[in-house]
Amino acid sequence: MNDQQPYGNSTGAFVRRREWYAAGQGIHFGIDFSARCGTQVVAIGDGTVLKVDARENGSGPHNLLIAHPNGYVSLYGHLVERPTLSVGQAVKRGDPVGLTGDPDLTCTSRPHLHLEIRNSGLGTAFNAHNLIDADWDALQLVGSFGRGFQRNLDDPRKWQSVYDQPDIRFDGPFINEFRNTWPYDWR
Ligand SMILES: [Zn+2]
Repeated sequence: MNDQQPYGNSTGAFVRRREWYAAGQGIHFGIDFSARCGTQVVAIGDGTVLKVDARENGSGPHNLLIAHPNGYVSLYGHLVERPTLSVGQAVKRGDPVGLTGDPDLTCTSRPHLHLEIRNSGLGTAFNAHNLIDADWDALQLVGSFGRGFQRNLDDPRKWQSVYDQPDIRFDGPFINEFRNTWPYDWR
């Protein structure tokens, strides 16, 4: 696993906020796990298949949404092919549910899994680092894209760790149009 991008106000998301992340108030609203195309994806918890290939939820070319009994929904994005699951089907934690792909459809440019955790209404994405038990401090050490967090120099300590990132409301206003920022906003 490399080229991981955390959830939140990453420097990579900041640079691409208007072209890739406008729907999520300008921040990266999931966690990216770099993996070669065709890597098996497993369900992160027990649940029921909510949607297969829901275009309105982005993360093409193929995606999958699983509703969990605790009210959260997990979204698996940029899958290489349509998952062979039906809406309403029960899945167990660890069940294979899809294969990783590449949003650019090349399998060489940036193949990765994009994982989101949303509310049941799908209008909010949560900071998944606080909901998934993993060694995020170690996982952050690998990768290059947006490894650090963009600083608002008017409030430089805000949103600087994986555990301190804001939940977002889809189609809400940008939250990272910083006036004074670092790294420099070259766009
Ligand atoms: Zn992503």
